Amino acid sequence: MKYNPSDKIQDLQYFGEFGGVNPSISDSSTYTFLSAKTMFDTFEGNAEGCYLYSRHSSPSNLYLGEALAAMEATEAATVTASGMGAITPVILQLCDTGEHIISSRTIYGGTYAFMKNFLPKLNISTSFVNITKLEEVEAAITPKTKMIFCEAVSNPLLEIANLRELSKLAKKHNIQLVVDNTFSPLSITPQKLGADITIHSLTKFINGSSDTVGGVICGSSEFINQLRNVNDGACMLLGATMDSFRSASILKNLRTLHIRMHKHSENAMYLAEKFHELGLKTVYPGLQHHPGHETFKEMMNDEYGFGGMLTIDVGSLEKANTLMELMQERNLGYLAVSLGFYKTLFSAPGSSTSSEIPEEEQIEMGLSDGLIRFSIGLDNHIHRTFERMKSCMEEVGVL
Ligand SMILES: *Cc1c(COP(=O)(O)O)cnc(C)c1O
Repeated sequence: MKYNPSDKIQDLQYFGEFGGVNPSISDSSTYTFLSAKTMFDTFEGNAEGCYLYSRHSSPSNLYLGEALAAMEATEAATVTASGMGAITPVILQLCDTGEHIISSRTIYGGTYAFMKNFLPKLNISTSFVNITKLEEVEAAITPKTKMIFCEAVSNPLLEIANLRELSKLAKKHNIQLVVDNTFSPLSITPQKLGADITIHSLTKFINGSSDTVGGVICGSSEFINQLRNVNDGACMLLGATMDSFRSASILKNLRTLHIRMHKHSENAMYLAEKFHELGLKTVYPGLQHHPGHETFKEMMNDEYGFGGMLTIDVGSLEKANTLMELMQERNLGYLAVSLGFYKTLFSAPGSSTSSEIPEEEQIEMGLSDGLIRFSIGLDNHIHRTFERMKSCMEEVGVL
């Protein structure tokens, strides 16, 4: 049987305190102990199943972590207050001062800014590479390299990382492969392709209602326990803890992720094909001519599709802005950053989510001014949406 991440989520059945169909929400920051000895053992990390303090763990956060570990086929997972609150502790747990990271150059702007501007303060350096060029990745490895970091599907250029090959490279040199899977939940299971650690911003598709930020780190029990260690765990000590009420609501939204991903992908595929037919410069990994199409196909869990993200290039920032404003006025979606919402969201990454990346580097990586990034929504009649988008494009002279 092929691995099916949504079956794994479905098989987790929880009961609330009074037999509720949802687990009860834990509403305490601290927990009592019947004996002082157990409290001591818990601090020492020797009391499995005991709760200590909610920055460390809470029942609600453990439920959500367990479901996400099941989805990502890892032994364990820990949830965090945001996606950046997941990425930064992983880096700081794995890398000491003087050590080195290899990262894809096309990544989320916040992650890029952290590596480029913040980590040098701790004397941790990063080489940014074209992750689709394995020779370039291998050439960047030094004796100080601790991790290869990439996004399975990159933001915003939708480059596809060949996780199987990258993991072979990482294993050969005894370094960790860390994958941000935010753009491709369910579609890609990095752990099954050899990744050591999988990260998500839960803010996006997984929660899906644009009402909170959240994050998760999925990995071995040993690594997750290290992150939570009271003496030197980056999650425990940096303190980006998710609130129990939020983890309970994200767990409920996770239950419909498979239906949503299916629809996001179906709608994005339809629009990408139509945009391409109109002659627009369209990037979508589901299209045959996408350079990562075969790699994605080879890695994917079939039924969830190629995801909900696509880009078009309309030639100039001015045209991009006019088109986005008009589409918003016509109720086709929101001119907003972020992704994974039930309505379509669009933004021009060069001047927003990727503005942390200097202009010359944007040009080098192919991030042009006229690029519009779409997170395609759950529209029931996507052909109707297409006809309306096409009218907008004609009106502003993009077509
Ligand atoms: C949004 C995003 C992040 C950061 O997540 P937050 O929840 O905003 O902190 C990291 N990686 C990717 C790919 C993202 O899209």
